Amino acid sequence: MADRFDLVVIGAGPGGYIAALRATQLGMSVAVVDSRPTLGGTCLNVGCIPSKALLDSSELFVTARTGLKTHGIQVGDIQLDLKTMLGRKDQVVKGLVDGLAFLFKRQHITRFQGTGRLTGPGQVVVQGADGKATVVGGKTVLLATGSEPAALPSLPFNGTTIVGSTEALAFERVPEHLIVVGGGYIGLELGSVWARLGAKVTVLEFLPRILANSDSEMAALAQKSLARQGLAFHLETRVTDAATQAGQVVVRASRKGEEVTFQGDRVLVAVGRRPCTTGLGLEEIGVALEERTGFVKVDDAYRTSVPGIHAIGDLIGNPMLAHKAMEEGVACVEQLAGHAAQVNYAAIPSVVYTWPELASVGLTEEQVKETGKEYRAGKFPFAASGRARCLGETEGLVKVLADAHTDRLLGVHIFGPRASELIAEAVTVLEFAGSAEDIARISHAHPTLSEAVAEAARAAYAGAALHA
Ligand code: FAD
Ligand code: NAD
Repeated sequence: MADRFDLVVIGAGPGGYIAALRATQLGMSVAVVDSRPTLGGTCLNVGCIPSKALLDSSELFVTARTGLKTHGIQVGDIQLDLKTMLGRKDQVVKGLVDGLAFLFKRQHITRFQGTGRLTGPGQVVVQGADGKATVVGGKTVLLATGSEPAALPSLPFNGTTIVGSTEALAFERVPEHLIVVGGGYIGLELGSVWARLGAKVTVLEFLPRILANSDSEMAALAQKSLARQGLAFHLETRVTDAATQAGQVVVRASRKGEEVTFQGDRVLVAVGRRPCTTGLGLEEIGVALEERTGFVKVDDAYRTSVPGIHAIGDLIGNPMLAHKAMEEGVACVEQLAGHAAQVNYAAIPSVVYTWPELASVGLTEEQVKETGKEYRAGKFPFAASGRARCLGETEGLVKVLADAHTDRLLGVHIFGPRASELIAEAVTVLEFAGSAEDIARISHAHPTLSEAVAEAARAAYAGAALHA
């Protein structure tokens, strides 16, 4: 065996790389195996970061085209330079993955590039791209191999016209008509990017609503807003098959028993992601998987069914979010080092980075209803926020849900400008089991968007906001 480490991590995404960094801080010797040449996994290379870079750039494009005039700023003819926009996105990614490589070096983390496979507890064989196999040993092996796009048998990926998110982050020209299958995170975020840059975008979703796990009132607001921005939605529409001819794809679907067809030059299939378990050697050494979903089964210390093998991140289940993977990475290695550490799954925020953004934490209103608890809902529209008016970003609202008897915060949902940043306050209060009144009484700088959160909280606990 070439080397033996305290910890061998397979997968250098947000779960694995954070676990590795924290483990070295705790004094462990660490090796990280990843098949990619760069660190950062899905999130940094082909996920969170490149998608947000394109969302930010395309948002500026729309602002420059249509949003500046009302501020009294006259600009000339605004043109898209897609090559530069894509190049900038790649540079943003490069800066971050290089930064991570520097941190790995500084922390003396040993990197192995290649595909990792478990050949026994504490033993990983790394198959390099050059065909060379290296055996790496570890007291503990942490599986953090993440997830990959789920394919639709009726619409298999072909890498050019029918693609997943990775290719849709790098279209070399703006599609004329992008058909998006799946009205979830990826469909709406990447659908927004290409619609802003000039594509016709049609979203096909087989449920009667988009963003299935979000608060339904907020999801409906998001759908209306996106429809105004030009995205067309076809709900209760299930794709049955597709034919490609001369660069065009004809997608056939069934809607309430009727056959409907859509023709476009690009199809993005974004119907969820599946855990990366193939070729990892899990079956051979007896690591148990969830039967229906294929996620690796773990206990609350992230131990799999095989002693010495732990797992975190997308590989172990929903929500498939980078920050959830990171928090599991920290908790897992801190527990290995004998610390008390855990993740509060009830207070993990989620953000859909459309414009406006939709950010949530805690229970949706439907989930609160299911608990049978009496609750109060306080709402505040951004149209009544001074700062939102100054910014010219008045769309959306904040909804705060609190227990009717104890006022304990149950959930907060924000559809509005910079919701991704505003949600942090709600996460903190939820984490500390605080109340709507706590948020309302905390001093919020004026004029800020955060006042809208305080006002919605006031509406929940006192029955009315002050400015609405
Ligand atoms: P991953 O990031 O998937 O990393 C796993 C790594 O393991 C990969 O590098 C893979 O190559 C490697 N690997 C797999 N198998 C092996 C093997 N056998 N041997 C060696 N290496 C292997 N989440 C958010 O929270 N916010 C966002 O804004 C966001 N945006 C997203 C946008 C897109 C387009 C996509 C696709 C995802 C987005 N996500 C976002 C989800 C986020 O990327 C994932 O939840 C997160 O990356 C999961 O981290 P992970 O460490 O579990 O796995
Ligand atoms: P998703 O689960 O968010 O949405 C998939 C959608 O596809 C669902 O609404 C589902 O009902 C629909 N669907 C499934 N099968 C279908 C079919 N045959 N026809 C039509 N619609 C169908 O999945 P995603 O958008 O692929 O994203 C995968 C995961 O990546 C997300 O769940 C999320 O965890 C993560 N992600 C997060 C962010 C973020 O945090 N901002 C961004 C992108 C991705």
